[in-house]
Amino acid sequence: MPETHLVTGGAGFVGSHLVLALLARGDRVVVLDDLSTGHAAAVPEGAVLITGRIGDPDALARAFAHGPFASVLHFAALSLVGDSMREPYRYLAENAKNGLALIEAAVAHGVTRFVLSSTAALFGAPTTIPIPEDEPIDPGSPYGESKAWLERALIWAERIHGLRSACLRYFNAAGADPGGRLGEDHRPETHLIPLVLDAAAGRRPPLTVFGDDYPTPDGTCIRDYIHVADLAEAHLLALEALTTRSVRYNLGNGTGYSVREVIATAERVTGRRVPHTVGPRRAGDPPVLVASSRRIREELGWAPRYPELETIIAHAWAWRQAHPDGYRQPR
Ligand code: UDP
Repeated sequence: MPETHLVTGGAGFVGSHLVLALLARGDRVVVLDDLSTGHAAAVPEGAVLITGRIGDPDALARAFAHGPFASVLHFAALSLVGDSMREPYRYLAENAKNGLALIEAAVAHGVTRFVLSSTAALFGAPTTIPIPEDEPIDPGSPYGESKAWLERALIWAERIHGLRSACLRYFNAAGADPGGRLGEDHRPETHLIPLVLDAAAGRRPPLTVFGDDYPTPDGTCIRDYIHVADLAEAHLLALEALTTRSVRYNLGNGTGYSVREVIATAERVTGRRVPHTVGPRRAGDPPVLVASSRRIREELGWAPRYPELETIIAHAWAWRQAHPDGYRQPR
């Protein structure tokens, strides 16, 4: 039976790919997005777009008027580790306030399933790598802290109101829709892979590598890059699990790549040089973040279709070449 879902941040990178996956299986989707970082053009055809802020009661009411919703999936948030170190109170307040308002509205409208976009940034100085779900939560940045707060709030929402929740801790979302319909377009762009690709294409100045004096084999930070379509698939499985129980999963491929390895792989995929220089460390960056996704593999049978970094970068490159101006139409 088709279901109807509310997706906040459905005009953003990960959110839009999830909307596409929900529509592909025949579900209905209502997107609530203020378009502060998302793009109307990224909302797949067939979804209803409500342009507005979660913090605006009128916008929230307009969105919930399209219910009843089988689930609420919450992607909309301030999400940059570096920014959160410069504006800690804005990150903590905005993400907490919006998340709580949405949880409260979901409960008030009888929603029983809630999916939170959570993050590897919950783990600021992990002691076990790959990081399992029982690693103590100890964020290295206000961004990670704001997501930790919401994970905690969801525990109370279940205890008091019976709202079941899936907290999906994404490691480094990357790639693009393998069908070429959607891609990554942040303004300003701060993520490594799109910056590497634009540097290769000569569309941006050389990349700055943020620090090469970390305790890693080549001195640069190691991250676990996960294909955005594999993330979307994990959300569909989590929705099924939520019919019986709440879940918390770390989501990555279990393989870490350093910044230098990403550059080298991008050079192979694109056949171009990636001009780069080494700069200082970026505040808030842990040296190594690699996920153990054993729990979601074992419990839900999740298996990434695109685990190879080459494929992830190739899909991102294909979309970028087809959309050099991103979602903005060239003048
Ligand atoms: N990074 C970098 N130069 C850049 C952007 C990112 O060296 O211009 C590094 C960053 O320090 C981190 C990794 O690339 O170690 C991934 O950063 P990104 O911002 O893509 O994701 P995050 O890990 O912060 O979620």
